[in-house]
Amino acid sequence: MSQTYSIACKDCKKALWIAQGSYSVKERGHVYTTQAHSKALFAFFIAHEKHHLIFGVNVEEPIIDYDEIEIDSKYSGDEQ
Ligand SMILES: [Zn+2]
Repeated sequence: MSQTYSIACKDCKKALWIAQGSYSVKERGHVYTTQAHSKALFAFFIAHEKHHLIFGVNVEEPIIDYDEIEIDSKYSGDEQ
């Protein structure tokens, strides 16, 4: 298991998993950079403009009950 990074909206109770890291203190998290993930992230910012957003490592609390946005189904069109 490695660390996960999510951005979440406290107002809408939605979360987007955008990166994964490791337990090494030297390694930084790997942010997903596919076209689908980029689209999902931009869409998230637009949809939740001026909302209370949180971002963090292993932010299971308080977002464990939030709706996880499915990237593959909604943001297809990845060229890779
Ligand atoms: Zn929101």
